Amino acid sequence: MPHFSDLGLSAPILGALAAEGYTAPTPIQFQAIPPVLGGRDLCGIAQTGTGKTAAFALPILERLATVPRRAAPHTCRVLVLSPTRELASQIADSFRVYGAGMPLSTAVVFGGVPIGPQRQKLTRGVDILVATPGRLLELTDTRSLTLSSVQVLVLDEADRMLDLGFIHALKRIVKLLPRQRQTLLFSATMPRPIAALAEDYLTDPVKVVVAPSATTVERVQQGVVFVPSDRKRDLLATLLRDPVLERVLVFTRTKHGADRVVRHLVGAGIEGAAGTAIAFCSDEERPYLRDIEKLTRCSLRAIPSKIPAARNDSIERQAKAMLPRDAGLASRQASARGRTTPAPQPATAVPPAQRPARWRFVSGVLAPRVVNQT
Ligand code: AMP
Repeated sequence: MPHFSDLGLSAPILGALAAEGYTAPTPIQFQAIPPVLGGRDLCGIAQTGTGKTAAFALPILERLATVPRRAAPHTCRVLVLSPTRELASQIADSFRVYGAGMPLSTAVVFGGVPIGPQRQKLTRGVDILVATPGRLLELTDTRSLTLSSVQVLVLDEADRMLDLGFIHALKRIVKLLPRQRQTLLFSATMPRPIAALAEDYLTDPVKVVVAPSATTVERVQQGVVFVPSDRKRDLLATLLRDPVLERVLVFTRTKHGADRVVRHLVGAGIEGAAGTAIAFCSDEERPYLRDIEKLTRCSLRAIPSKIPAARNDSIERQAKAMLPRDAGLASRQASARGRTTPAPQPATAVPPAQRPARWRFVSGVLAPRVVNQT
């Protein structure tokens, strides 16, 4: 069995790992730590849960500790980019845990919260900065941060970053970094855009693969329609008018693409239907409520509920009471139409009120009569 002590890690880190109860490195840690310690660029194909955070955090901490130079004001020595605030916070926590015995500072910045305290944190400079791309650019645009002395760049969950439409932000950020740096890229999958990113940003990288590329669910029948790009949205509108398609999920490559699809469908007479969203919110998630209210520009009505001690359907009944009463009827009408009018109809032929019920996932419950268009 491999040991952390065989990987070239020093006593403070080995102590932190022992305190965390880690007995042996995971496969990605075993393969990634020695080359990253040696200064190599790395392309890691690994999913969350494989231990990939420690695979980059441990050798980075080790390398920073060997050159105990303070970060200059408004700079960072290591930049970790993450697609979401939750992941960014987890990564920063991991750096703090693994580097507990070291005099290194870690900060995290992400959008959706006031920028002032984050500016303040950067005033004196930090060793490790974990950031989401949008907020990072706000900070560089206002000169609260300069990236000219970054020694190590980590792109974590690169495929999710691209899925969320961060490619332009990413390209802008990389232009602000020194060319001479170490770059580590982690992604759960390696589609062509990620391979291109790796090709552009990594120099002679070590490649470590610990998870197979994403596969599809076996029970989903796969099909393909060959269609010119500029005809895809018309084809989608035509398909969605077929009443047989009662519940539809449409995937787009980026969030901007999703916006364009929605605009096109609305233009084609296929509108966002009325529906009900009920959020399940635990105590620790209460701070996120304000973000949701800001985004949706409406305040969420608290639904009183007694949490059942044992199996009890009272919460379920209260949630159901929020849903439109004729949901079942709409669904039955949709099925009936599916049997009698299988051919696609022009937009004007099906008034919005009679369109088939479709479903959208709304934070914990499925609300009928909500058309999912993204
Ligand atoms: P990650 O894939 O980085 O999100 O890590 C998944 C989980 O595995 C986290 O909860 C880590 O704390 C844990 N973990 C990472 N490395 C090890 C290890 N070598 N032994 C035991 N647990 C680990």
